[in-house]
Amino acid sequence: MLVLGIESSCDETGAAIIQDGRYLRSNVVASQIEIHNRYGGVVPEVASRQQLASIIPVIETAMEQAGCDWKDISAVAATYGPGLAGSLLVGLTVGKTLALAQDLPFLGVNHLEAHIYANWLRKGEEPQPVADWRYQPGDPVFPLLCLIISGAHSELVLVREHGHYELLGQTRDDAAGEAFDKVARILGLGYPGGPAIQKAAEQAEEEMRRQNRPIRDARKAYRMPRAWLRGTYDFSFSGLKTAMLHLAEGVTNTPPETRPSVTTKQISRYARMGAHAAQQGAPDVGLLAAGFQEAVVDVLAVKTRWAAEEYQVKQVVLAGGVAANTRLRERLSEELTPLQLPLSYPPIEFCTDNAAMIASAAYFHLCRGERHQLDIDVVPGLSLPFVEK
Ligand code: ATP
Ligand code: MG
Ligand code: FE
Repeated sequence: MLVLGIESSCDETGAAIIQDGRYLRSNVVASQIEIHNRYGGVVPEVASRQQLASIIPVIETAMEQAGCDWKDISAVAATYGPGLAGSLLVGLTVGKTLALAQDLPFLGVNHLEAHIYANWLRKGEEPQPVADWRYQPGDPVFPLLCLIISGAHSELVLVREHGHYELLGQTRDDAAGEAFDKVARILGLGYPGGPAIQKAAEQAEEEMRRQNRPIRDARKAYRMPRAWLRGTYDFSFSGLKTAMLHLAEGVTNTPPETRPSVTTKQISRYARMGAHAAQQGAPDVGLLAAGFQEAVVDVLAVKTRWAAEEYQVKQVVLAGGVAANTRLRERLSEELTPLQLPLSYPPIEFCTDNAAMIASAAYFHLCRGERHQLDIDVVPGLSLPFVEK
């Protein structure tokens, strides 16, 4: 079964053709990073206008690259939430229109579920016949624990079966990706923050290596606070962000209770200061980035291991943009290897927003006989369809 997937929830425009939920026939992504970098983050009005400009060429390219005709396509799928309303509307409207025009079934896809299904995509594998849509050798194995860490979400989810989600914990304030993006602004490292912080941290580690010192010295130079929130699987990253801001400001000796909370204005001010420091090649920026990354990754990895042990899962999978972080992958496998628990994560290009994962998630719904009517609307605040524990 070939599904045309369309993604337009934020600042990436994607179209992909995926065979049987796993095998890539084409995957095209147009990113707006260059445009939003100027503003230090995504500007919603700009994002939706760009979606409009990119969507048709992106879909045409995906059809061309897959070398297929409309008669080969079995269904059209598009993200209907969560995301920016104006951006979502573009992909959803185009998807529904194509389904109507080509007389194909339509499926609206939950973007977060799609991030999870990125783990079912096979990079560089020739399409194979699929005997049972539920399981093809090489697929992740249920029950599994999924750590979704993206630009707007941080959730630990127990997945017992296809479509069966139990929420174990979530962030109480900032999402992990949001923390990376905001701290990168504070340090003047640009947008998107995740890759920039990872690179700055790697450079600081490389510098340690050059000095014949252990690389962990780079990670420990600034020992940043960790919010463990013991007894829950929840996360919190806003305290860490504030600590980074105060460190940049040089007021870390102030008692925590007298510290003001961080305002957007302050972040902008330190974004300028940080940009200046980064331009001067200040070594501290790399060490601060490494200390911050280590604090985020530590909490994510350890709490994921705790949950994996309690719920006796067979596998752990990562999903969302922050799953691209190499230090997280490394740190989490350190936690899970002693338990002999397999860890999987999508190739980097499937971690951040793409349409291949949309088509994959759609396939598993279509196989259960589901489809949506064409009056389906965007749901910007959509969450995963959780069942009670
Ligand atoms: P959501 O999926 O929650 O709706 P989103 O679609 O904006 O939000 P994604 O595209 O999944 O989020 O992920 C983008 C986020 O991933 C950004 O915050 C970015 O900084 C982060 N990210 C990307 N690469 C890395 C990396 N190597 N290390 C850490 N974070 C990263
Ligand atoms: Mg994005
Ligand atoms: Fe996303």
